[in-house]
Amino acid sequence: MKLFSDLNLASPIADALRDEGYTTPTPIQAQAIPPILEGKDVLGCAQTGTGKTAAFALPILDILLRQQRDPARRGPVLPRVLVLSPTRELATQITDSFAAYGRHTGLSHTAIFGGVSQFHQVRALHRGVDILVATPGRLMDLMGQGLVNLSAVSIFVLDEADRMLDMGFIQPIRRIASQV
Ligand code: AMP
Repeated sequence: MKLFSDLNLASPIADALRDEGYTTPTPIQAQAIPPILEGKDVLGCAQTGTGKTAAFALPILDILLRQQRDPARRGPVLPRVLVLSPTRELATQITDSFAAYGRHTGLSHTAIFGGVSQFHQVRALHRGVDILVATPGRLMDLMGQGLVNLSAVSIFVLDEADRMLDMGFIQPIRRIASQV
């Protein structure tokens, strides 16, 4: 069985895994992390609770640490990662995972979802974030108001893609995908 140490993740991520007490990747992590690190597109299927979030969050954090932010760009940091999630509960969980696995990286993240005031979400975008986790409805709403710039996004994740499609999000997903 592979160990996380065999995956050569950057040391701030390896330190966070040590904090979490993880030593061995779950099957979906062992299969998904290497191709994501190579920049390949990955479709992953596994049951709830099998470590899917870390399967994409860990290699994404590693890629962001290796990538320079565009040094010529002025103004707030633009998101380089967009994760779409069907529900606000899942969006919050994903953000919590990025916070835990990224705690030593200095990378920033925020969640955007409906049912609450947009005030704090817009303020976070203005301050700048590396990783944006969003539900499609609120994201489209903020895009319509010209408050989200997705032009720097180079990593796009559809979490629980099957559920988002079941919920009828195909048109918003297409429109969002056309902006990244
Ligand atoms: P998820 O399927 O992403 O919701 O993860 C399910 C639970 O497993 C979460 O509580 C994670 O913190 C935990 N977890 C994820 N990967 C590992 C791992 N490699 N070793 C131990 N626990 C893990």
